[in-house]
Amino acid sequence: MSTLEDKEKRSIPCPGCHKPINATVYDLHTLRKVRCTGCGSELEITGSGASEIRHAIGDVEQARKKVEEAEKYTQRAEKDFKEAVDEAIAKADRHIKMK
Ligand SMILES: [Zn+2]
Repeated sequence: MSTLEDKEKRSIPCPGCHKPINATVYDLHTLRKVRCTGCGSELEITGSGASEIRHAIGDVEQARKKVEEAEKYTQRAEKDFKEAVDEAIAKADRHIKMK
């Protein structure tokens, strides 16, 4: 499954040759380093930048969880609704009106 972290690309200027290095947020988060295709320099993400990326990913994961919970809640509510309607129909007084 392709996630936001895989798709979100960032261009970071290489500290060596100043060419842009393209990296996904996933690369930055898991590998913590990306290699410049221009000069071969390795760019390492450390310190507050790394923890900010971690926080940003955490926020997205939390939002995803909330969406999942909301979906589950909606499914449960729809199921309850159907059951309530079935029950109401079963219990309802039914009269056939003769003409
Ligand atoms: Zn470079």
